[in-house]
Amino acid sequence: MRRSNLFLPTLKENPTEAQIVSHRLMMRAGMIRQSTAGIYSWLPMGYRVLQKICKIVREEQDYSGAQEILMPTIQSADLWRKSGRYEDYGKEMLRITDRHNREMLYGPTNEELITDIVSKDITSYKDLPKNLYHIQWKFRDEVRPRFGVMRGREFLMKDNYSFDLNYEGAKRSYNKMFISYLRTFSRLGLKAIPMAADTGPIGGDLSHEFIILADTGESEVFCDSRLLDLEIPSEGIDYNENLQSMVDNWTCYYAATDEKHEPHKCTVPDEMLIKARGIEVGHIFYFGTKYSQKMNAFVQDSEGNKVAIEMGSYGIGVSRLVGAIIESSHDEKGIIWPESIAPWSIGLINLNVGDPESDEICEKIYSGCNKYSVDMLYDDRNERAGTKFADMDLIGLPWQIIVGPRGLKTGVVELKRRVDGESKEMLVGDIPEWIKGRSFCDKEY
Ligand code: ATP
Ligand code: MG
Repeated sequence: MRRSNLFLPTLKENPTEAQIVSHRLMMRAGMIRQSTAGIYSWLPMGYRVLQKICKIVREEQDYSGAQEILMPTIQSADLWRKSGRYEDYGKEMLRITDRHNREMLYGPTNEELITDIVSKDITSYKDLPKNLYHIQWKFRDEVRPRFGVMRGREFLMKDNYSFDLNYEGAKRSYNKMFISYLRTFSRLGLKAIPMAADTGPIGGDLSHEFIILADTGESEVFCDSRLLDLEIPSEGIDYNENLQSMVDNWTCYYAATDEKHEPHKCTVPDEMLIKARGIEVGHIFYFGTKYSQKMNAFVQDSEGNKVAIEMGSYGIGVSRLVGAIIESSHDEKGIIWPESIAPWSIGLINLNVGDPESDEICEKIYSGCNKYSVDMLYDDRNERAGTKFADMDLIGLPWQIIVGPRGLKTGVVELKRRVDGESKEMLVGDIPEWIKGRSFCDKEY
């Protein structure tokens, strides 16, 4: 992508309405613009990041065996009357009436709709287990939308729902999501800690919120510091093997949100106990037959008995993640994207636009990157060097290649790593070899 063509309206000044760093940086880096309170448009760079997050979420969902569907944003009030949540949801639900005076709503979540779908087409134990997910916009009329995309009113969520014949099956589905979430957040460059969360009337211990530690987080959390060093189940794990012990490896350490924190039960020595604030990026929840009973989602078991389907639901705040990742990865100059979700992997800065030699080398590097399908943003604008450097640091691409007049004589460019500012000289001819060694290059050539 050429910067001269790109719609990337960066701002020099901090917008006054933005209270936290991620909101400020998303505005300044031209990623989002507010449409109205808690509702945002995503501009090209913001949308690229959002899509990259979706891709990783999707890959991990698929890998766990979940299947992607797409349910609508608008739902009928009648479904929600069946579960009893139409009244309960109160003012957070955006209620709409169509031209025939039928009551509708903009979905804040999808338990009712998915249970309705499954109740009609899943009738036998042979059809189970199933796990269905979608990535869709939700609307919750939050009392205090704030912090940009972190607490929006319209926001993008990945939600999935598991369906099993019995509790053992449901627990296995829950455990799979537990591990799948650890892997997902780790691939996004985050340390998300699963913490015991409220189970409400369902009881039991199958509810965890995945929290990243950040001063600007809205929840207060308590956890054992050893959780920060645990290894993430990675490459080629088998979801059918050792699932419970993989989960136990995490849940054996104390970690709770303030709602669940019980000081007398917390035996973590003071020097190991982290008391901090955190951002909830995901939530997994087992709720048994709460919806299936009310919405008539039954199957026949192998003995011909009619049993209510055991369910769980699992959410990831996809749009909130964009803000959360910036909260945990930035410096005074701007954003620092993890390579896995960077909008472009490399930024190319031409310091001497109009000079035939500079232009030629830059074009050569740029077309080379295109050939290897590596995302590159080429700053080909006729701007001052200072402006270009500041802009490139602000938008936080992991690598910068700087082509300046000095190095050109010897065919050398500067390669700079955004995360620590470390830079070295590299021969133009060595760039393909360097790209080949990077994880963002998945193409054979
Ligand atoms: P919170 O406690 O932050 O209000 P919640 O418990 O109501 O969230 P869930 O119903 O568990 O949220 O939704 C799943 C995920 O969706 C959350 O873990 C969070 O990451 C995200 N999410 C929820 N509400 C919002 C919002 N208003 N804006 C952005 N993301 C949200
Ligand atoms: Mg929650």
